[in-house]
Amino acid sequence: MTDRELINEAIEASRHAYAPYSKHRVGAALECDDGTVVLGCTVENADLGVSMCAEQSAVCGAVARGRTDFRRIAIYSKESSDYLTPCGTCRQILSEFSPEMEVLCVRSDGRYVSYKLRHLLPAAPGRDRY
Ligand code: ZN
Repeated sequence: MTDRELINEAIEASRHAYAPYSKHRVGAALECDDGTVVLGCTVENADLGVSMCAEQSAVCGAVARGRTDFRRIAIYSKESSDYLTPCGTCRQILSEFSPEMEVLCVRSDGRYVSYKLRHLLPAAPGRDRY
């Protein structure tokens, strides 16, 4: 799958985001090591503290399918004119599984930049911590 195809999956996922409060509808497409793509989207709640990011919902879906090794994730929101990067919590959640994965941060016009997750979250606590 090309970067553009993965980004298109994230764009499709963003259309299903539940974001009545922030109006920031984010979609994520998470590519697992076996090529499986799992989609996620923002799921907000009136108690904003329990809202879930698109990246988190994609990871939960992947783990529920038995996938815990990831190659790439594309993150998109049509409300973001800047490159959309994962929040700190999502960086840590992704790092738990695949610190070497690639993160495609997409702007509303479809342009994107790619980072290695370890560059977005250097020296992250890993599985070897305990
Ligand atoms: Zn997040």
